[in-house]
Amino acid sequence: MAQLSRDDEAFGGPLMSVEQASVRAAGLAAPVTGVETLPLGLADGRVLAEAVIAGLDLPPFANSAVDGYAVRFADLAPAGETALALAGRIAAGADAAGVATAGVAVRVFTGAPMPAGADTVFMQEDVTVEAGCVRLPAGLKRGANARPAGEDIAAGEQAFAAGHRLRPQDIGLLAALGLTQVTVRRRPRVAIFSTGDELTEPGQPLGPAAIYDANRSLLAAMVARAGAEVLDLGILRDEPDSLAKRLGEAAQACDLVLTSGGVSTGEEDHVKTALARAGSLDFWRIGIKPGRPVAMGVIGKTPLGTTPFVGLPGNPVAVFVTFAFVARPLLARLAGTEHRAPAALPVRLGFPYRKKEGRREYVRVALSPGDDGVMVARKHAQDGAGVLTSLTRTDGLVEMADDWTTIAEGTLAPFYAYAGLLG
Ligand code: AMP
Ligand code: MG
Repeated sequence: MAQLSRDDEAFGGPLMSVEQASVRAAGLAAPVTGVETLPLGLADGRVLAEAVIAGLDLPPFANSAVDGYAVRFADLAPAGETALALAGRIAAGADAAGVATAGVAVRVFTGAPMPAGADTVFMQEDVTVEAGCVRLPAGLKRGANARPAGEDIAAGEQAFAAGHRLRPQDIGLLAALGLTQVTVRRRPRVAIFSTGDELTEPGQPLGPAAIYDANRSLLAAMVARAGAEVLDLGILRDEPDSLAKRLGEAAQACDLVLTSGGVSTGEEDHVKTALARAGSLDFWRIGIKPGRPVAMGVIGKTPLGTTPFVGLPGNPVAVFVTFAFVARPLLARLAGTEHRAPAALPVRLGFPYRKKEGRREYVRVALSPGDDGVMVARKHAQDGAGVLTSLTRTDGLVEMADDWTTIAEGTLAPFYAYAGLLG
């Protein structure tokens, strides 16, 4: 069986691990320079150019976490129920100044400032109120249901380090701190090409041996999710001279050139030749399936003024996988943020699997709940690297470790949800 030929023999030389490849890819790039100041509404996904220090305590004042009755803990009986006179009422947004607390219970609502001296709040459903008197059960701890000033974050504390990539919850914190804008790095500009004489632009009539270009749209969306700006440069024909010329031109205008197709060892795979002409090529056989051949290097001949280049394989699933695991760390470095390896959670394999040793395989799976609470992964039936529905009809990728060969059904394996790979 052809399957049994060893990859490193077929491709001449050992395979590089996914980790080695992603570290070397990131090493091709330096963080972009240039910053801009944006309103919070435009800052999601952007990378902070400087640290953000809290300018105030959050919450800014001690307040009640519930609708209830605020008391001084010291006024409670050491054991058993306490009865205190009901005196005073503070709603959210109202001023608590001058509200007396000694020996009384004060009606308070969620978010209302705690009156001076009160440190504990009974929930309204836990007490009985009759004839101007509140009966408070035993057992509540000092400070219960009260939120001290600065419990969330204190004035002077660092909210975010420089290089942090903002998420919606981060934007919420910035707003809670009273900020209206933040200073972020400019986004990296990524030029995207497809290569292949069979490719047709969607919207155009399709010739007999032609297919529509899927990869450019796929990559543009992934690049945008990774926080970069897309320069969509179209389709390149399988011809090394024009390829080299176009790569050289693109490199002038962007921080990374990304292509798909044309990096295998076939006669019509000209991307590597073109890159060697336009700059320098570092062709890698990565131990990853789908996706093995990835061309990396730089465009430009001098050490200064070079632009990193990544040539992904042609099959759309290989594009997806190699972008997620090899190109994203490079994009993170360009963007000036630290790449966080995507989180994997264990799932139970609902199928047996066989693979060659020494390479990592990513299997497209759909999840369903298992009897023991662990999710069960079912492999998509059509698992070819060109089958786009294997990505659209599944939930994520199961990782088959480099050294695994015969994997029994029921084995626990790491699962990456698509959302976590798209960052
Ligand atoms: P290649 O690596 O160029 O030999 O391409 C491998 C396979 O991926 C071939 O079947 C190509 O037709 C297909 N392919 C390459 N580029 C694209 C693209 N942009 N969109 C869809 N399929 C592609
Ligand atoms: Mg091709």
